Amino acid sequence: MKLIFEKSVPGRGMTLLPKCDVPEVKLPGELVRDAAPALPEISETDLSRHYTELCQHVHGVNCGFYPLGSCTMKYNPRIDEEMAALPGFTNIHPLAPAHTTTGCQEVLDTARAYLCEVTGMDGMTFQPAAGAHGEFTGVLLIKQYHDARDDKKRTKIIVPDSAHGTNPATAAMCGFEVVNIPSAPNGCVDLDALRAVLGEDTAGLMLTNPNTVGIFDENILEITRLVHEAGGLCYYDGANLNAVMGVVRPGDMGFDCIHMNLHKTFATPHGGGGPGAGAVGCKEFLKPYLPQSALMTGSDRLQVRSFAGNFLVVVKALTYIMTLGRQGIPEAAQNAVLNANYLMAKIKGTFTPAFDRICMHEFVLDLSEFKKETGVSALDVAKSLIDYGMHPPTMYFPLIVHEALMLEPTETESRETLDWAAEVFRKLYALGHTDPEFMHNAPHNAQIGRPDEVKAARHPILRWQKV
Ligand SMILES: *Cc1c(COP(=O)(O)O)cnc(C)c1O
Repeated sequence: MKLIFEKSVPGRGMTLLPKCDVPEVKLPGELVRDAAPALPEISETDLSRHYTELCQHVHGVNCGFYPLGSCTMKYNPRIDEEMAALPGFTNIHPLAPAHTTTGCQEVLDTARAYLCEVTGMDGMTFQPAAGAHGEFTGVLLIKQYHDARDDKKRTKIIVPDSAHGTNPATAAMCGFEVVNIPSAPNGCVDLDALRAVLGEDTAGLMLTNPNTVGIFDENILEITRLVHEAGGLCYYDGANLNAVMGVVRPGDMGFDCIHMNLHKTFATPHGGGGPGAGAVGCKEFLKPYLPQSALMTGSDRLQVRSFAGNFLVVVKALTYIMTLGRQGIPEAAQNAVLNANYLMAKIKGTFTPAFDRICMHEFVLDLSEFKKETGVSALDVAKSLIDYGMHPPTMYFPLIVHEALMLEPTETESRETLDWAAEVFRKLYALGHTDPEFMHNAPHNAQIGRPDEVKAARHPILRWQKV
């Protein structure tokens, strides 16, 4: 497909500026360009077609199934967008006098109260702009807590190997030494391994739960007890709270702080780096360390982002919570878990689940046997799914499973869609045995086949440059 600049024809175009009705003023010379900007010149028809074509080349939740594990690509109700677009929310200025923004304040206070209720926490900040940013904030709470007690020997954060990759990265960013512990064969934390590393130097433990293989750790109460006994604090990675919300509360499991991805669990379209919110909740004793906007409060407390964070994401989350209510929230969680188990059960018998047990909101397939039999890799299967109009699952993650495909159907898919998805997986399993070559070359019907993913991530070209 051509870029819009390549479709440009000099002199074509459609300038629809109204006639100037104020006196013309000459700009100072240094502000004036030497030449006109190289903007594309294109008719309205072609412009409209260009962007419509671009939309058709993108796969979103509105186009089809998108089981990208851990990322919770679910349908987000339009009403959340409508509320976030209300002029009273979009037209405020962060420095507007407090008495003119009481409505917005009420949104923050109400969302905080509901989310504290859902998580079993006492305080919360909406400053962090993403999940990883929330982790960073949460671990800084732990750090400040130990510092305030002058407990300088606590330099280590324990991270199980089934954690989300951002967990060890966060601990390191906060200046801690990361202590990795292995999982037991059942996918849960190995308690003996945990006991072995706990000590006076333990600052805390970060637990992704459900973990990245989609398993709720069955020893969770014992884990938090052991960490506390050693004097450490417990951090809950609740990015994927849609697996447990309204059913169990991290606060009741013994966790001291948590982040949630409002943009995954509580409905905000995400992906492509759009605005998110990694709300961080904590128990009463950590509240004094929560970040605050220095500009708004004049305090010298920790600040991780300007003002109140991505406020409109909180508006969407609050709308979502109020739409679902006390009954709908656990129902959504139950459907997320039911859908994952249903799909896993239907795929089983062809591709092999990495852990053959009841899962939470997602599950991992282990394709190493399949690859041995056919030469077809997890990447080949993922690429082949594109030809069926399905977004590939998360690939080669978590690292503890080889040839991993990680599927999260989410709570918003129908049984018919899950049946169709299972059928596609079954077809590909068969195709791997009859025509592996075809799968090595997939996708056959996509704009881009197999880009150099490392190069695309490390050296992205995000804007047209005139040659
Ligand atoms: C997505 C995710 C994160 C990171 O969230 P971002 O908003 O992408 O920074 C952290 N932990 C888990 C378990 C996640 O699924």
